[in-house]
Amino acid sequence: MAVQDRELPYLRRCVELAAEALADGDEPFGSVLVDGNGTVLAEDRNRVAGGDHTRHPEFELARWSATRMTAAERAAATVYTSGEHCPMCAAAHAWVGLGRIVYVASSAQLVTWLAALGVPEAPVRALPVHEVAPGVTVDGPVPELVGEVRALHHRAHGLLG
Ligand SMILES: [Zn+2]
Repeated sequence: MAVQDRELPYLRRCVELAAEALADGDEPFGSVLVDGNGTVLAEDRNRVAGGDHTRHPEFELARWSATRMTAAERAAATVYTSGEHCPMCAAAHAWVGLGRIVYVASSAQLVTWLAALGVPEAPVRALPVHEVAPGVTVDGPVPELVGEVRALHHRAHGLLG
């Protein structure tokens, strides 16, 4: 399934959340959980600045969904996100049985940008979602918004995007 124009507002919200995270001294990542009818159920952004580096928005949304949605509701839901799920979040997403993922920027793009900025390598390999959770439908990158996400990461590492 390709990314539809009607989905862009969810992705724009993810970029806004990522910008909020950055403004609050965190890494720029944001995600939105949308049910099968297109209603936004929950949203979050990165919260690792306090020292807990597992506090990614996709992980929070997976856990949120596990306690508040039925299995059928989770399967029909979509998680929109500014950056492709990392392996930890992809695993959580698959373990709770959430549906499709739509990301603006891929992990491969992020790795390339951060390497060019001289950011030390992450402790977890940036595997694509399909390698961690092969049953999950994944769409992205979304070229219309990739530039904005890239600019946020450049700003996060001291460069103007
Ligand atoms: Zn993650």
